[in-house]
Amino acid sequence: MTTTPPVRTVRCPTCGGASVYASTNPFRPFCSERCKSTDFGAWASEAYRVAAAPPIESDDEDVPPRAS
Ligand SMILES: [Zn+2]
Repeated sequence: MTTTPPVRTVRCPTCGGASVYASTNPFRPFCSERCKSTDFGAWASEAYRVAAAPPIESDDEDVPPRAS
């Protein structure tokens, strides 16, 4: 009954290396500050790009007001 590892490790999303998933690792689930900042930068730029994408043009915007 000693198969439980002393520390839990996960795969670093950035470099794929082992990352200590514990309170001792402030960068979890990343293995290091560098990996964390790198991943966040990529995510942020991607999110910004998507958010900044122009809306699809629609002819519905040009519907003239109905005269009654
Ligand atoms: Zn890493």
